[in-house]
Amino acid sequence: MNDPPAAPADADLLDEARAGSGAALEALLERHEAKLYRFARRLCRHREDAEDVLQESLLAAARGLPRFRGASSLGTWLYTIARSFCIKKRRRSVFAPPEVSLDTEASVAAGGVADPSRRPDEALEASRLEAALEREIARLERPYREVLLLRDIEGLSSAEVARVTGLSVGAVKTRLHRARARLREALAPFMAPRGEAAARAAAPCPDVVRLFSRHLEGDVSAKTCASMEKHLASCPRCAGACDELKEVLRLCRAAPEPAVPADVQGKVRRAVHDLAAGRSQATRAIARGSRHRQVATRAGVSGRPRIEGGPTPSTRRPPGPTGSGAPRPCAPRAAVPTRGSRSPPPRADGSPPRR
Ligand SMILES: [Zn+2]
Repeated sequence: MNDPPAAPADADLLDEARAGSGAALEALLERHEAKLYRFARRLCRHREDAEDVLQESLLAAARGLPRFRGASSLGTWLYTIARSFCIKKRRRSVFAPPEVSLDTEASVAAGGVADPSRRPDEALEASRLEAALEREIARLERPYREVLLLRDIEGLSSAEVARVTGLSVGAVKTRLHRARARLREALAPFMAPRGEAAARAAAPCPDVVRLFSRHLEGDVSAKTCASMEKHLASCPRCAGACDELKEVLRLCRAAPEPAVPADVQGKVRRAVHDLAAGRSQATRAIARGSRHRQVATRAGVSGRPRIEGGPTPSTRRPPGPTGSGAPRPCAPRAAVPTRGSRSPPPRADGSPPRR
């Protein structure tokens, strides 16, 4: 399934929204809300908190849009806002309930990566695996969890994750490799017997999971890659571990976008609508040339939505060079599938999709 060909690009909607189009503003936020909600639910690990965060983030974005200069993609900017609201939420609640596993009933019941060709026992096994994945993601400490969510579920590049989190690209990757390795380890029992095809290797095994994760980020030299390939060809245990990591990443990328609760959606729509109406009044005032810029600022403030927002969206600059599209030293053994409907086509080398 592809987006309808006529769907305007984010950049076009942005221009229109900045020029005062309420419809463009609403369309823009609507386009991103399910992804933001998916991210917030896993980062907050609490549904109501995630709903609040979504609401606050969308409204803060609607208010901050005139200040958004496009230094990063709109999506990256929105994740930055949502992340800061999630963190704030957690800090604010002194008696916050213990962080628990995200309930997975929705994603599992919805079939997650629904595949009609699956047999019932396969479907059951798959839904167990998906539930286990959610549990293990929820168990990761936040610094690891947020990096994994942004990179492997939301599909941002490492450089974009660095921008959202304020970390260096190197720190993002270090956390990412650890998070991936931990998930792979925790989920290995659910993926037996593939991972149990253990056999004695002649030489001591390298840390193939970490190597493979680094390879996905374009950080493994051709020489190292070749020796890894050689080892994998002769070591079923390591080959199994790599397969498990691929499966974990495939599942991450297949995480569905949850339905945004109707009441949250309604509140946001109304507030954004009011905000947009306030803005277009301001725009008309400017057009009449009655006064100067001051008018627009004041009208913008008076047009504030009912739901009060949070921090001023960050315009943090990327710490590193944009794009981590380093050439891939060699091809991994099998491609990691990517989310079909919203990602670019899978790269031939099986690396995660870039945006
Ligand atoms: Zn090995």
